[in-house]
Amino acid sequence: MIYLDHNATTPVDPAVADKMYAFLKEYFGNPSSLYPIGRKVKELLNEARERVAEGLGAERGEIYFTGSGTEADNFAIFGIVNAFPERNELIISAIEHPAIIESAKYLENKNVKVTYLPVDSYGTVDLDSLRDALTVRTALVSVMHASNEIGTIQPIEKIAAIAHERGALVHTDAVQSFGKIDVDVRKLGVDLLTVSAHKIYGPKGVGALFVKKGTSIHPYLHGGHQERRMRAGTENTSGIVGFGEAVRVLKERGKKDRPRIEGLAEALKKGIEERIPRVHFNGHPTNRVKSTVNFAFPGLEAEAILLSLATKEIYVSTGSACSEESEEVSHVLTAIGLRPEIARSSIRMSLGRSNTEEDVATVLRVLPEIIDKLRKITAFNPVD
Ligand code: PLP
Repeated sequence: MIYLDHNATTPVDPAVADKMYAFLKEYFGNPSSLYPIGRKVKELLNEARERVAEGLGAERGEIYFTGSGTEADNFAIFGIVNAFPERNELIISAIEHPAIIESAKYLENKNVKVTYLPVDSYGTVDLDSLRDALTVRTALVSVMHASNEIGTIQPIEKIAAIAHERGALVHTDAVQSFGKIDVDVRKLGVDLLTVSAHKIYGPKGVGALFVKKGTSIHPYLHGGHQERRMRAGTENTSGIVGFGEAVRVLKERGKKDRPRIEGLAEALKKGIEERIPRVHFNGHPTNRVKSTVNFAFPGLEAEAILLSLATKEIYVSTGSACSEESEEVSHVLTAIGLRPEIARSSIRMSLGRSNTEEDVATVLRVLPEIIDKLRKITAFNPVD
C-alpha cells in the first residue's frame, strides 16, 4: 500500500499505541476522583497537557482538551460569540474547514453577521478585505493556518495584528499545520488555536483548543467541572495520553522528518509536471505545507483517477475527507477561481512519515499510465 492521504488522517505512531495500551491496561480511574487512582490519571492528563502546551509554545493552563478538532473549532466560534453579545460580527475565510464554515452559517441564522474573506488564486487571504470587513462589532476573526486541501499557509501574524487593532479576537485552525511547520501561539499572535491528535500520528477523537490566558470565553459543553468547567464530560483519558505522546514523538523526530517528507513531495510534484501534460497545480508554489500536493487533470473526473489508483493500492483524496462523500465541488478550489469541471478533476496527495523514495517512483510510473488511459477513454476533450 502507498498511503498518500496524511491530511485525512495519519497512522498511529507505534510509541503512541504502546503508551495508550499500557495506560488502558493500568489506569481506569476517573480523573475527577479524589482518591489515588483518580489522582494518578489526572496527573497523566496534565503531563499530556504540558506536552501539547510545549508543542505550541503555550502554557499548560491555556490548553483545553476536546473530542476532536471539529469540537475545538466549534468551541472557539461559539465560545467567543457567546461571550461578547454586544459584538455580533464574525469574519472567516472562504476556504475554512466545514467545522468553521458550518458553525458560521449556523450563527448567520441567529443574527450574527458573517463575512467570508476571499482568497487569491493561490488560496491566500486578502488582507485589504479583512481591513474593510473589520468593525468595532467584530467579535472574532477565524482564518486557518494551513489549508487541508491545497496546503497554502496564511499570514496569520499579519491577520492577528490587523484584527487586534480593531479589538477583535483571533482564532486559527492549525489542524493541518501543527507537525508540518512551526506552530507557536505567541509568534502567531493568536488568542485561540485548534489542533487535532489524529493528524499528528495520534489517536482519533481528541483535539485541543489553546485559549490565551485572560481571554473571555463561554463553556462549550455544560455539566461537570472537567477542563476547568469549559468542556464538561469525563475526559477521553487514553486519547489524551496518546495525544501527549504524539507531541513528544513529534518533538523528537519532527525536525528530521520534515525535510525528508517535503523532499519527497517536491519530487512527486516535479515528476508529475514533467511526465503528465496539461496538468494544473492547485495552491501556492512556495508558501504552503510542502507535503500537500494538489493537481487538476482537466477533462477527467477525480473519482476515476482515485479509483484507478486504489486498484494499485495507492490511496489519494479528491479533497477533504469531509467533502469526499458529497457531490459538491470543493469550496476551496472554487474560491481560488477554478471552474467547477477543473475543480472536479483535482486530486490531493498528502505525504507523511511512512512514505519513501520508492513510493514516489511507483506513483510517477503508475499515475501517467492511468491519466493517459483515462484520457483515451474519456469523450470529453478539454479546452485547456
Ligand atoms: N480543521 C481542519 C483544517 C481539518 O483538516 C480537520 C480534519 O480534516 C479538522 C479541522 C477536523 O478535525 P477532526 O477530524 O479532529 O474533527
